[in-house]
Amino acid sequence: MPRKIIAGNWKMNLTVSEAQMLAQEIIVYVKNKPEPLVILCPPFPFLSALYYEISSSNVGLGAQNLHAEASGAFTGEVSAGMLVSIGCEYVIIGHSERRTHFKETDELINKKVIRALLSRLTPILCIGETLEERESGKTLERIRQQIQDDLSGVEITSGTDIIIAYEPVWAIGTGRNATPEQAEEVQSAVRQLLAERYDQSVADEISILYGGSVNADNAIPILTQPNVDGALVGGASLKPAQFKAIIDASQ
Ligand code: PEP
Repeated sequence: MPRKIIAGNWKMNLTVSEAQMLAQEIIVYVKNKPEPLVILCPPFPFLSALYYEISSSNVGLGAQNLHAEASGAFTGEVSAGMLVSIGCEYVIIGHSERRTHFKETDELINKKVIRALLSRLTPILCIGETLEERESGKTLERIRQQIQDDLSGVEITSGTDIIIAYEPVWAIGTGRNATPEQAEEVQSAVRQLLAERYDQSVADEISILYGGSVNADNAIPILTQPNVDGALVGGASLKPAQFKAIIDASQ
């Protein structure tokens, strides 16, 4: 059985004191809850401060990005080793905002996945189709391509090595979520593709999250689909009441 996971992507929001307060509220809320695993992904400058909040809790700490190279003359960038050195365990890779605004290609995303795994960070690999791809019936083709390209040369021997987030681009930050049936259709296909690529037992253990306008109102029907093992949550992860309701929906 894959682990249930709810990850909060805070994107480029909050001040450090707001981030600490929000983290504290979530830490207290999940204190005695073994499931789901809650992962918070704050902006880079808050990671160290939040590590002190999170390190003695059952909450995981994730970054929103990393550089594909180990080190070097890349002004303004952050390496996997730096993230590990401040207590990060997870990293979001291939988010559609990075694919769109920063022109990240599947080739670069693949390098980042490899770098994360070499550094013992667990990638939260985001994949998903655009509205145009969905409307022209190319959703599963695009997903297959992303799995093939983003995981090229990537060896996965345990279901906990990686987390996949299916995030239809048209559903991110738009208030328009995929229906539970749409999420299940793609996520069962993702599991099948992972089984073909690795093996069934590994695929059965990989947590496949849904992301795209998840909120307190739509969480239960989405999170109770057989191949939806949790959620990657953007906007609603900044609102404690909403995020707590999503956590509860995934138990
Ligand atoms: C995200 O940023 O990964 C995301 C899913 O955002 P939102 O929940 O706001 O759609």
